[in-house]
Amino acid sequence: MPTKNPNPAFGSDLEPFHGIPTFMRLPASRDLDGVDVAIVGIPYDSGTSYRSGTRFGPRKIREASSLIWGYNQVLKVEPTKELQIVDYGDVSVVPVDIKVTMENITQEVGEILNKDVTVIALGGDHSISLPLIRANAAKHGQLALVHFDSHPDTWEFEYQGQPYSHGTPFRRAVEEDLIDTKAYLQIGIRGSTSSPMDLADARDLGAEVVTIDQVFDIGIPSIINLIQETIGNRPLYLSLDIDVVDPAFAPGTGTPEVGGLTSYQILQLVRGLRGQNLVGFDLVEVCPPYDQADITSILAANLAFEFLSIMA
Ligand code: MN
Ligand code: MN
Repeated sequence: MPTKNPNPAFGSDLEPFHGIPTFMRLPASRDLDGVDVAIVGIPYDSGTSYRSGTRFGPRKIREASSLIWGYNQVLKVEPTKELQIVDYGDVSVVPVDIKVTMENITQEVGEILNKDVTVIALGGDHSISLPLIRANAAKHGQLALVHFDSHPDTWEFEYQGQPYSHGTPFRRAVEEDLIDTKAYLQIGIRGSTSSPMDLADARDLGAEVVTIDQVFDIGIPSIINLIQETIGNRPLYLSLDIDVVDPAFAPGTGTPEVGGLTSYQILQLVRGLRGQNLVGFDLVEVCPPYDQADITSILAANLAFEFLSIMA
């Protein structure tokens, strides 16, 4: 008999289909006393360049998380027992103003981090990673970065003269000295690019670009070894763009690229980060309007559960 989740807001005897859908039916609360981890939604999609709709990501991931029970059979851990976890709700975003939105994210997430609470952010498009990294670096100093994505997101400009969009966050983060470029891995990169220079530019910036071909050539365990050797015990920020997964497994995203990871492979990669000095997480680019049967949101919810499990 699985343990029912005692959520004081909604009663203690909830079935997965009952009630208001918080993440994993955990308490919805902004009282952070004694809390270890806050799930924070960032429903922002105005940094998107193609198919928008990630503003609906956090709500849909919460709903898709309803069926996740507490125990992780693979990692042999029950994060909801080991950690005090709350669903903090969402950061206020301003759809027509990316700068104000980014300031809101940095400030509000910064306040949570200052209470020694780790934030798992659910996006939202990838532009939100920059303000999240700003907040995390303000607390922890320069960060190592593991960035799962099919795209490098290190363009100088995606739109001329516009520094902020979902194609630029990591260039800005490096420019702002927030990332330790000796420990910055991009994993799963693929697809057509705007020029031969896209990946070269990312490498010039300091990223170790691991293409999907390399992942499939050397295999998941070798990639996990590479991550562990590169990152060491540095404070690590994990940014996971769901489009690193093949659109057959994650169709609900804005800029899909074929030939990616399976659901199982991304679960393996995330589990491989267990033991790292993880300080911050985001999971971005889940775009429910393009999803089918909630495939993508269900995967995203389970990946967030894996984040909690490797922390616990
Ligand atoms: Mn991305
Ligand atoms: Mn991407």
